[in-house]
Amino acid sequence: MRSIAIINQKGGVGKTTTAVNLSAGLALQGHRVCVLDMDPQAHATLHLGITGNRTTPSIYDVIMKGVPIHDALQRIDNRLSIVPGHIDLAAAEMELADEVGREMILRDRLATLPGVDYLVIDCPPSLGVLTLNALTAVNEVFLPLQPHFLALHGLSQLLNTIDVVARRLNRNLRLSGVVLCMYESGTRLAGEVTNDVNEFLGSAQDPSRPWHGARTFSTKIRRNVRLAEAPSFGRSIHEYAPNSPGAQDYLELTREVIAMASRSGLAGTQQRATA
Ligand code: ADP
Ligand code: MG
Repeated sequence: MRSIAIINQKGGVGKTTTAVNLSAGLALQGHRVCVLDMDPQAHATLHLGITGNRTTPSIYDVIMKGVPIHDALQRIDNRLSIVPGHIDLAAAEMELADEVGREMILRDRLATLPGVDYLVIDCPPSLGVLTLNALTAVNEVFLPLQPHFLALHGLSQLLNTIDVVARRLNRNLRLSGVVLCMYESGTRLAGEVTNDVNEFLGSAQDPSRPWHGARTFSTKIRRNVRLAEAPSFGRSIHEYAPNSPGAQDYLELTREVIAMASRSGLAGTQQRATA
């Protein structure tokens, strides 16, 4: 199984859009995928057409009440499922304040996740305990960036967080790559930010750092209004507007993500033993 956390402490950079449409793309390509919505705003949950109600458990119940993860899993189609987020997650930060080992709860709970090929975690726009739980539970980080003039602002804090988690809690953690979202090709700014990111990643020579070997995905996700419309229909872009540039870009990103697995020897299609 590959496990990927989509993180950036900024809001509105394309985390949820990428988590949902990459996951749906992976499922379209024949993989079994589980989306895990760690954001109290539960946008990924809504984007996939799940409207929460009080009777179905969410990731909040899994983390805080020990509800088994398969009881919270909701099926979207044959290959795609989601563990929904919930507004109650907003309180988890405080509720866990005194809990020993609070960063490791999700990792423990995931031990009984039914077999999937890809776990994709949509994270909230912060580096708090929910994001730390995600980083402790996965092997890979994808970092969506929107190329504007403050795009790299906050990057060092984010990388430092990844580094600390990698050293103290999760030796397997790696930054796999940067996804440029809402890209406006042809603008000077987009080109400049792309160069800055590549320059930074290229200069990260220290192999002990979790971002060593990270790269910018060559697929850029262009700004496309269909991507902004799809959530209100509760559909991924591949269902809502399969011929749109947005669907094309996310499918191409999906192929790049799959190819990267076979190149690096990661077991992208290897099945995890069903617990
Ligand atoms: P985050 O999860 O980082 O807060 P979102 O994925 O929710 O960011 O994106 C923020 C807003 O931008 C949403 O309304 C989303 O629909 C829209 N959006 C995301 N990517 C694109 C894109 N490539 N083109 C147009 N709108 C986009
Ligand atoms: Mg989001």
